[in-house]
Amino acid sequence: MSTAPAVDATRSRVVVVGAGHAAATLVGLLRQAGHTGEIVLLGDELDHPYQRPPLSKKFADGELEQWLRPPEFYQEQLVTIGLGEQVTSIDPAARLVGTSSGAEHAYDVLVLATGARPRPLPVPGADLSGIAGLRTLGDARVLRKWLAEGRRLVIVGGGYIGLEVAAVVRSRGVEAIVLEREERVLARVASAELSAIMTERHTASGTSIRTGVQVVGFEGEGGVRRAVLADGTGIDCDAVLVGVGAVPNDELAAAAGLERGLGGGVVVDELARTSDPAILAIGDVTCRPVPGFDGTRRLESIPSATEQARQAVAAILRTPPPEPETPWFWSDQFDLKLKIAGVVRPGPQVTLRGDPSSGRFALFHHHDGVPVAVESSNASPEFMAGKKWIASGTRVDQGRLMDPTVALRDAVI
Ligand SMILES: Cc1cc2nc3c(=O)[nH]c(=O)nc-3n(C[C@H](O)[C@H](O)[C@H](O)COP(=O)(O)OP(=O)(O)OC[C@H]3O[C@@H](n4cnc5c(N)ncnc54)[C@H](O)[C@@H]3O)c2cc1C
Repeated sequence: MSTAPAVDATRSRVVVVGAGHAAATLVGLLRQAGHTGEIVLLGDELDHPYQRPPLSKKFADGELEQWLRPPEFYQEQLVTIGLGEQVTSIDPAARLVGTSSGAEHAYDVLVLATGARPRPLPVPGADLSGIAGLRTLGDARVLRKWLAEGRRLVIVGGGYIGLEVAAVVRSRGVEAIVLEREERVLARVASAELSAIMTERHTASGTSIRTGVQVVGFEGEGGVRRAVLADGTGIDCDAVLVGVGAVPNDELAAAAGLERGLGGGVVVDELARTSDPAILAIGDVTCRPVPGFDGTRRLESIPSATEQARQAVAAILRTPPPEPETPWFWSDQFDLKLKIAGVVRPGPQVTLRGDPSSGRFALFHHHDGVPVAVESSNASPEFMAGKKWIASGTRVDQGRLMDPTVALRDAVI
């Protein structure tokens, strides 16, 4: 922190807002690193911090409740955890936060880890029953119930979460219809090549994918029965999952006068520091520096939240910062384990290694042989090599790279 807390850093009083992935990771790492001061963790959900990735991948299997730490961990580590406790105000001058129950907590260091929430779809009928987003355990339980009832599901938005849900729904033989506004699925986050491969895979499984269509409303009596498109077409359904992205929960930060990015999110540096010297921010709520990318941007992934938790520990304890990590994340769809490193943007050349029809392949995005991103499926060695090459700026011979009989190390120039 640029302004030293009044007390010894290892004994500072840390208040963490939001009890999700970033927060639970942070408190564990802080204790591991020798922090002995008071830690207060305040989260507005009723559950102990849990894994969100299974919510869209495992909701049919009864493997939903995967705690990030055993619930007794917090007591053992002397972390005061307040569940169902929403932080409603921050007074940066007095270094105090106020909560929905009327409690006040003083801090030396405040960490905002409030995450993001599903982007709403502001169209007529969006409040009909049978329409939901997916962010919490409660949302996933609703989805599980719909699946058990065999409800024909419209998924608005062909992003990673929407496609993961479609894969599960189809694996249970239930109808799934994906409605995507852009001309291809995964348009914001994946290359055209990966979009095409995933479209083929989902279509083969029986999911109906319609791109270039805009949902302008929902209709039904007693519950949703139809999604209405801009051209007037009605798509019959018994339930709707809205998966059109997430918005950062940055209202508290805004009220506290913290700098925010143009598209929202609390602006932080490579040590998770905000524009207030006593306030850090980590996870989906941030707008952060990303290696290989000018300025700051929002990342929504577990590896990013974990990396920023490490950065926050270094900032709080004033220890050396961790090495910056090439951003990456994963997605599971059918038997495809996708792992993506780097930031996928339009422009670079793309080299394919492997055979998409086998499910094992990697798409290397590069500028004149220097990889800037890799999208891989069931191809951990390619993913690991690509991630390393992106970080080191290693030049790779694309002719050799595209030949799977040539060892990856022999493709390096
Ligand atoms: C369905 C789904 C699947 C995903 N799959 C993957 C995946 O496969 N791979 C991957 O890398 N990432 C995945 N992600 C993204 C990943 O889960 C997030 O990046 C990660 O959870 C971010 O952690 P966080 O702590 O910033 O936010 P969260 O985990 O969302 O935690 C924030 C917490 O803060 C609480 N909160 C907000 N405001 C307040 C307040 N004022 N007071 C108190 N509490 C508050 C929120 O309710 C929430 O509990 C997935 C996300 C979802 C929703």
